[in-house]
Amino acid sequence: MSVYDKYETVIGLEVHIQLGTKSKAFCGDDASFGAPPNTHISTISLGHPGTLPRLNKKQIEYAVKLGLALGSKISPTNNFDRKNYFYADLPKGYQITQDRMPIAIGGGIDVETEAGKRYIRMHHIHMEEDAGKSIHDLAPDATFIDLNRAGVPLVEAVTEPDFRSAQEVDVFMNAMRQLVRYLEISDGNMQEGSLRCDCNVSVRLKGTEEYGERCEVKNMNSMRFARRAIEFERKRQIDLLESGGKVTQQTLNFDPATGITSPLRDKENAHDYRYFPEPDLPPVVISDDYLANIKAGMPTLPWVLQKEFIEKYKLSPYNAKLLTEEKGIALFFQELTRHTKNYKGAANLMINKISPWLSEEKVTIREFPTNHAQLGALIQLIDDGKVSNTIAYQRIFPELLTTKKMPSEIAEALNLVQSDDTDFLEKLVDEVIAKNPDKVKAYQKGKKGLIGFFMGAVMKASKGKAAPKTTNALLVKKLQA
Ligand code: ADP
Ligand code: MG
Repeated sequence: MSVYDKYETVIGLEVHIQLGTKSKAFCGDDASFGAPPNTHISTISLGHPGTLPRLNKKQIEYAVKLGLALGSKISPTNNFDRKNYFYADLPKGYQITQDRMPIAIGGGIDVETEAGKRYIRMHHIHMEEDAGKSIHDLAPDATFIDLNRAGVPLVEAVTEPDFRSAQEVDVFMNAMRQLVRYLEISDGNMQEGSLRCDCNVSVRLKGTEEYGERCEVKNMNSMRFARRAIEFERKRQIDLLESGGKVTQQTLNFDPATGITSPLRDKENAHDYRYFPEPDLPPVVISDDYLANIKAGMPTLPWVLQKEFIEKYKLSPYNAKLLTEEKGIALFFQELTRHTKNYKGAANLMINKISPWLSEEKVTIREFPTNHAQLGALIQLIDDGKVSNTIAYQRIFPELLTTKKMPSEIAEALNLVQSDDTDFLEKLVDEVIAKNPDKVKAYQKGKKGLIGFFMGAVMKASKGKAAPKTTNALLVKKLQA
């Protein structure tokens, strides 16, 4: 047993989610990503004296939706606070946040980990605004500031220290990404920084109750980096303890190039943010009516759909998971089930044909050109034995993308309907048998597995139209002769 096995890792996350509102949290500036630097700014986001913030209602709605989805308690009265610090990308000199009364408290989410199902408790969710962006790597001796992001609305979802491995953090972050996309409150894009997290990491001897001293690795916007940072921290802290040292509470930066964490500041030098109530924003009261309205408009959540796909449509848990990863796909499948009773066939069509097609063409399901009725009819065509799966997927499916015609019409027009015509099949079977005397002998001597070869050959000669059952029966009869 290695010394590392004596310890258990404990992790808690502060997850930052950039909300997909059109305008910023407290002014009308465009909040979208990717514009030329410093074009989405105004006197308000620049913090000019005399300007006043105004609340974006969508921000409240989105935060409430997340809270409801996670089963949190929504606070009836919400206050904003100022968090004061000096930094070049924070022109106001403070960030508007919620310190004393966050919008949502408690709740949690089930995640499927390598160690089985685990419930991760949420501590709270609060609203705040983002700071601008400092860019240090454009010039050797200068820092560039882009304030487009300054004032973009965020929610911070803080978990309890319930994670025990980097893998659990990974699946949780994936679940959060999936959830915010289902709720349509954020694009959950980690590369663009819409979803990022601070990882609080500590270690303790297995079997002990008390948490160890923790360090916080800031601003992870890639799960690969987060996993590496957590692994590095775990080993660093254990090494420290094993060599008689002590972990001190620190804020750390992870450098992906070197794979190591280094201190940004320690507890003694921790910021005193001098929080105080934001005097320019009145408290936000969330009425029962407002809450009822949001509840009524909540979309179906991914785990609810997953359960439904297993129970109602009898899909395997694996397929149910695949089909619920993206909301658009899940809803498309759900609609498809109104056009076929062969749910498994529908799932196969989605997973094996439509999804790969979408990724190949780099389009979303919304831009998918065929309709549910055509696809339902395609499944029916296979089930009726009119065409094989292969013909349906390879020949008819591509046609559906450019026409409103039904699959049966296409099959007729392209002469693809499977033939049960014994005369036609018998001719092909005879030909194949005549062409392969050695294989026929081998079959007759007992190599019965060769039936697959003969089937394949007849199928090829028929251009995929031979009805498999009839062909098989014919072959078995003729090969025995
Ligand atoms: P703050 O960062 O403001 O001091 P908290 O002390 O409440 O806030 O903790 C913030 C985050 O740190 C939470 O996600 C929490 O789960 C996590 N955390 C707290 N204690 C530990 C610990 N001993 N080990 C790992 N994570 C912890
Ligand atoms: Mg913190």
